Amino acid sequence: MSKFDYLVVGSGLFGAIFACEAANKGKRVKVIEKRNHIAGNVYTKEQEGIQVHEYGAHIFHTSDKKIWDYVNQFADFNRYTNSPIANFKGEIYNLPFNMNTFNKLWGVITPDEAEAKINEQRSVLKGKVPENLEEQAISLVGTDIYEKLIKHYTKKQWGKKCTELPAFIIRRLPVRFTYDNNYFNDVYQGIPIGGYTQIIEKMLNHPNIVVELNTDFFERKESYLREFPKIVFTGMIDQFFDYKLGKLEYRSLRFETEVINVSNYQGNAVVNYTDSVTPYTRIIEHKHFEFGDQEKTIITKEYSKKWESGDEPYYPVNDEKNNHLYKSYKKLAEKYGNIIFGGRLGQYRYYDMHQVIAAALQCVEKEIN
Ligand code: FAD
Ligand code: UDP
Repeated sequence: MSKFDYLVVGSGLFGAIFACEAANKGKRVKVIEKRNHIAGNVYTKEQEGIQVHEYGAHIFHTSDKKIWDYVNQFADFNRYTNSPIANFKGEIYNLPFNMNTFNKLWGVITPDEAEAKINEQRSVLKGKVPENLEEQAISLVGTDIYEKLIKHYTKKQWGKKCTELPAFIIRRLPVRFTYDNNYFNDVYQGIPIGGYTQIIEKMLNHPNIVVELNTDFFERKESYLREFPKIVFTGMIDQFFDYKLGKLEYRSLRFETEVINVSNYQGNAVVNYTDSVTPYTRIIEHKHFEFGDQEKTIITKEYSKKWESGDEPYYPVNDEKNNHLYKSYKKLAEKYGNIIFGGRLGQYRYYDMHQVIAAALQCVEKEIN
């Protein structure tokens, strides 16, 4: 038997919080990570004096004061407010959908005028309760915004038509009848000054924790199961069970990062390309997350792709078919009393960071108290 109480598979937010809190309660924890660095998808790395979000733009937001206070133990956050813009064939629109978007699109000035326009356009639904992303989008913002800002972006992002996707995905975005470009409705929002990696570093920096990088659980699965009394697994739940009930669907991404010799490339941290021809979904200009004034800039183009074996599984595809299959894996998992499945991949859920933190804290509380 191992000298450790827990093996944590994965050093992302879920794994790191579990390890940190368990270590604080006197448990000995080994963390294994298949990548060559800690921090999972929140990993940031300094380049040219700029914190680069290596796995896509990460903006922290929550309305839960406990979660905000928790994460602020590990870093100071700046006042960044996410206000992405959409570029549709050279036309620029504010996101999320708000009075600035409606004004640019239709010339409407007042909320009443905007509501009337949307009402007129949603009549194509003939009062039907939205059952998919297309119907939900039209019901929220009408057909013009659906056609210019949602339809093609979503097809690129998910590789499926909006009629084949669940409505909840578009409900992530606020719709506002005020001139307010804040992408989130949450009370607290910001970017950790100096990046996210320091947060995970501090969580894992504990005498009771040992971290091993470049180590894939599946290379020694059987011996880990024998050696460790308990395992916290934050990788893909279907892979854990050798896909024996079938494969869950994921969406992967490809990032193309360039250093550019100009100080300001696009004037905003996030620009979405919502047409069908541009092959990438968005361009991130990292320095704007921290109001950087460096001489050079770094941008990342984000391409969405079908997940295939060997790719990183960035997004679970939470449609009915996959959720149903996940439930069967969950049932199977419940038979293993000594394994906890956590995080975006272990729980197959489109979690944001604050939700992963809440889930990890709840899990460790239940497990150890
Ligand atoms: P992960 O960060 O994926 O960590 C899992 C870790 O386990 C990884 O390091 C992985 O390498 C490791 N692992 C997996 N399998 C194995 C194995 N077999 N052996 C060893 N190690 C293994 N959230 C927000 O709140 N705001 C945002 O703006 C935001 N933007 C996002 C943008 C993108 C492009 C993506 C993909 C996600 C975004 N998120 C955002 C969500 C956020 O990334 C997640 O909520 C959070 O990182 C999930 O943490 P996790 O620990 O569950 O998973
Ligand atoms: N979306 C869209 N156009 C945009 C931005 C978002 O149609 O310009 C839709 C798209 O379906 C996307 C969903 O809204 O998957 C959620 O967007 P969010 O920005 O939350 O996606 P994430 O950052 O998680 O990729």
